[in-house]
Amino acid sequence: FLQTSAREAKVPDVTFADVAGQENAKREVSELVDYLRDPARYTRLGAEVPHGVLLMGPPGTGKTLLARALAGEAGVPFYSISASEFIEVFVGVGASRVRHLFEEAKVHAPSIIFIDELDSIGRTRGTGLGGGHDEREQTLNQILAEMDGFAGHEAVIVLAATNRPDVLDPALLRPGRFDRHVTLDLPDRQDREAILRVHARKVPLGPDVDLGKLAAGTPGFSGADLKNLINEAAMLAAREQSAQVSMRHFDEARDKLLLGSVRALAIQPEE
Ligand code: ATP
Repeated sequence: FLQTSAREAKVPDVTFADVAGQENAKREVSELVDYLRDPARYTRLGAEVPHGVLLMGPPGTGKTLLARALAGEAGVPFYSISASEFIEVFVGVGASRVRHLFEEAKVHAPSIIFIDELDSIGRTRGTGLGGGHDEREQTLNQILAEMDGFAGHEAVIVLAATNRPDVLDPALLRPGRFDRHVTLDLPDRQDREAILRVHARKVPLGPDVDLGKLAAGTPGFSGADLKNLINEAAMLAAREQSAQVSMRHFDEARDKLLLGSVRALAIQPEE
């Protein structure tokens, strides 16, 4: 269970080709690929490369995917941690977990650290939900200390993801910390089609399947929703013993997902 702290210290097998749409976000992080491939070329010239990048955007828009793709493109190991785990799993040892993670990443530099759900730990200090909030502050302070402690030559890039940039402690956003901001948006129709195409690569599609039409009929769907849609359609087809996934399966899957989200909305308490 505890292994989840350094979930993956391998080079991810995804690249920017796996991230459909999100052209702006890809362009912004792609500048870091060249640096990670050969950091010495930059440090020799005294160039200071940003250490902290904040990925902002609604759930399921591909923040984690983009971070992994950056590591995959650059061919560097990926150390990931979900900030909510600090609160739920590493009670009492959050700060030392952070220290350990950064140590590992430095040993294997060039490398990437990915902190998911940064807002769960990086909310403005002093406004926690009570209990356990010292713990949270200590962990947050340790992240800040680690970000400040990078020597110029240490080729570790820290990416953090949040869908609540508004609640983040301003200390996290200061120069030298998460001072680069990259926004990921919900996909438009064209990008939804591109995402469907990426995830349909391995799916035998029936002749009546029109991914363009499907994209037009799924406004508001995130990348994660679209991936889910393809999977649901494939499950329906498999259950019917069909050899291919046809438009009927997609329509049925979409209705099921839409109904599910309406239900979820209906029972979700206000924050
Ligand atoms: P969360 O905020 O919920 O952690 P996230 O923004 O990190 O979400 P991911 O976990 O990267 O989103 O997305 C979930 C899955 O959805 C990805 O693994 C990928 O399969 C799919 N996905 C999301 N966006 C895209 C995209 N632009 N192109 C292709 N697949 C995508």
